[in-house]
Amino acid sequence: MKKRTDSANIEQRFNQMLSKLKKHDFRLTPQRLAVLKVLAVSKGHPTVERIYENVRAEFPTTSIATIYKTVNLLKQLNEVLELGFPDGSNRYDGNKPYPHPHVICTKCKKILDPNLGSLKDLTKEVIKETGFLILNHRVDFFGTCRDCQSGRA
Ligand SMILES: [Zn+2]
Ligand SMILES: [Zn+2]
Repeated sequence: MKKRTDSANIEQRFNQMLSKLKKHDFRLTPQRLAVLKVLAVSKGHPTVERIYENVRAEFPTTSIATIYKTVNLLKQLNEVLELGFPDGSNRYDGNKPYPHPHVICTKCKKILDPNLGSLKDLTKEVIKETGFLILNHRVDFFGTCRDCQSGRA
């Protein structure tokens, strides 16, 4: 049951990105559609290099420049969320292209999306405390994942 919901969600994300690109008259090559597919799944918040590897498996002539260009365009259209890190290793979430909290394993670099019901209350508290009009947020938790704790990764 959960699986079906997931795949329906992935297909929906893919179609949303596709219609945005069409609206902006972006040329839709099979390689670019493959980038969209990888991003719609966004398992583990891939790097551009990881997306490149995935796409190249299907389309060996793809250049990494194509991947960068497609990802950047989707970023500008708010269809992909970029997670920048101080070491320059950007990760991308095309499945949830809006601000949401992340849990990041500092050992294996795994990134998960925790469901935090308390974030809404936290935002209200920030507004109350500062009087800010909040437009965006970035909440990252860093630590060691279960696999790394047990030495399996
Ligand atoms: Zn880990
Ligand atoms: Zn995410």
